[in-house]
Amino acid sequence: LQEDTIIVVLGASGDLAKKKTYPALFNLHRLQLLPKNTSIVGYARTKMDEPTFHGKISEHLKNVDSGEGKKAKEDFLKLCTYVPGAYDQDDAFAKLNKEMEKIESGAKNPNRVFYMALPPNVFTVVAAGLKKNCYLEKGNNRIIIEKPFGKDLESSREMMGKLKDLWKEEETFRIDHYLGKEMVKNLLVMRFGNPIIDAGLNNKLVDNVQITFKEPFGTEGRGGYFDEFGIIRDIQQNHLSQVLSLISMERPKSFSAEHIRDEKVKVLKTVPAIEAKDVLLGQYAAHGDKPGYKDDDTVPKDSNCPTFAALTLFVNNERWKGVPFILKAGKALDEAKVEIRIQYKDIEGGLFEDAQRNELVIRIQPNEAVYIKLNAKTPGLHMGTLPADLDLTYKERFEDARIPEAYEALILDALNGDHSNFVRDDELDVSWKIFTPILHAIDEGKIKPESYPYGSRGPENLNDFIAKYGFKRSNEGYVWPKTSVQ
Ligand code: NAP
Ligand code: NAP
Repeated sequence: LQEDTIIVVLGASGDLAKKKTYPALFNLHRLQLLPKNTSIVGYARTKMDEPTFHGKISEHLKNVDSGEGKKAKEDFLKLCTYVPGAYDQDDAFAKLNKEMEKIESGAKNPNRVFYMALPPNVFTVVAAGLKKNCYLEKGNNRIIIEKPFGKDLESSREMMGKLKDLWKEEETFRIDHYLGKEMVKNLLVMRFGNPIIDAGLNNKLVDNVQITFKEPFGTEGRGGYFDEFGIIRDIQQNHLSQVLSLISMERPKSFSAEHIRDEKVKVLKTVPAIEAKDVLLGQYAAHGDKPGYKDDDTVPKDSNCPTFAALTLFVNNERWKGVPFILKAGKALDEAKVEIRIQYKDIEGGLFEDAQRNELVIRIQPNEAVYIKLNAKTPGLHMGTLPADLDLTYKERFEDARIPEAYEALILDALNGDHSNFVRDDELDVSWKIFTPILHAIDEGKIKPESYPYGSRGPENLNDFIAKYGFKRSNEGYVWPKTSVQ
């Protein structure tokens, strides 16, 4: 870690800053993981005095009402100052620069990290203003940005191109917060640290893979914002395609950032653009006292925007050719869950008539777990098979472990200059190539979403759609007894 670091949170008055950035910085501070002599400067247009600002960024800090937590919060707030200013004026950034120079006076090796908690329409103008007015000639400069990185291949290239003219790739950290999640980071260890698992991940053994994101609530008043993007841009193009690349990539030469990202890009390049026949879209409708998507006043009444999508992708390489990867994501569904479900082929030879397919399930959230569904002999004198599991439930196995928030892990990586869990420019490009044609077809209304009731599993045709790619629901007789840890 580098001493004498200033972290500037641009858009410090906003939602992301309050809910994620400052709480993550606070936890790092509390764990004494921030560099020695760190200052955190908030910047946004809203005029606020320091107590008001401190009140705002304290709202989501946890366990800070008494004792050590209270003291940690007081110490943390001493690090946090606020500078109001515009996003498009040199003199405002010059003022910010002056403030930073004051903080840095006497520092041997100053470093600046700019965290853009801002809407995308101001990304490039702010990136330009910072480069021109706040860039350290001597020392490290880093910029952290968040999705959305454009709306399609062309707009992503345009935006990334503009940023690239100003900030070098090694200075740029593009967040996909899924890459900071414990179970997503675990994927490489699970695979390449366990030959027993990785050896079975191929088209000889695997029948189909589902990567699933389910959210139990709808857009709840923010539909107008969502309508511009839709579920595929919000979840599949970035988060689920990151998971896909980690689950399907080959072993990297080393765990260095470039080697990992080289392999991710390599595997994504083998995935053809998604075809309309491999798509099922949904849009939620009112059910009981829950409103439908179009009941939101901010959503156009003729919106074609999907709030649910199941998309089947194919990884056309020797390892995976022919195995469907179904990426499904939806809002206003029956539960909250993000998981990877790898379903293996039927047992050949008809030896065991009642045996079910093996499945390897990696649950990313909630309640992190990895389990393998397998067949066991029915205990006792009778010779039959019974579905059972090998189970690694994190709460049980690692009882005292604290699972960090994704943003904590990512901010710490950025402070350390480690790019492994950030999105490289070519990764973004290749992912947009897979998704752009289908997104354009949906934007043009050529593919329509089916309506599904709020709180259901999704459109009625979902089970048929998944069955088309080989999935067999094989949990007859399978009981998970430990519901208390769920
Ligand atoms: P936000 O609250 O809407 O905006 C952050 C701040 O930017 C606002 O407080 C406001 O500050 C300024 N701002 C808002 N609209 C603006 C406009 N049209 N022009 C110029 N300035 C404007 O946004 P956010 O939810 O924090 O999200 C920030 C970024 O993170 C976005 O790219 C978003 O997609 C991404 N993100 C957010 C979340 C989340 O949980 N919220 C999660 C993942 C990713 P001032 O008026 O004081 O300048
Ligand atoms: P499951 O919940 O039975 O889901 C298996 C698959 O069947 C999913 O693809 C699911 O679709 C689908 N499905 C669910 N309901 C359906 C329905 N009514 N009709 C058709 N398809 C349906 O998962 P499981 O792995 O067999 O586990 C059973 C239960 O035990 C789950 O609650 C699981 O969390 C629990 N369990 C927990 C642990 C642990 O915490 N360590 C370990 C093992 C099992 P969607 O993807 O659309 O939901």
